[in-house]
Amino acid sequence: MSWTDERIEHLKTLWGQGKSASDIAEELGDVSRNAVIGKAHRLGLSGRPSPIKKKATRGATILALTERMCKWPVGDPKHQDFHFCGRPAQLSMPYCAEHAAIAYQPASKKRPDDRKASAG
Ligand SMILES: [Zn+2]
Repeated sequence: MSWTDERIEHLKTLWGQGKSASDIAEELGDVSRNAVIGKAHRLGLSGRPSPIKKKATRGATILALTERMCKWPVGDPKHQDFHFCGRPAQLSMPYCAEHAAIAYQPASKKRPDDRKASAG
């Protein structure tokens, strides 16, 4: 079997969700657990969240962000719990699939522009 873009994206998504390599292999089908691990390693996906939860899990801070991670800001930058999404980013995009869809959605609804007409 070959790694199509679609399968790679699927792998990234599942890996990002913290699924085990064997779970991912099963989900993708027609691929071994070792192949999943090898592919993930080549994609640089090794730094995934541990399935064991420590304290409150949060996304990435700016320091932890890499080019392959979603840079979608979550929360208020003024607050301490502000962080970045940090999920695996789409190819050639700064965001994960979910956030890319928000960031690049067609402008269906124009935001009301509340400029004040304060002429003179
Ligand atoms: Zn994201």
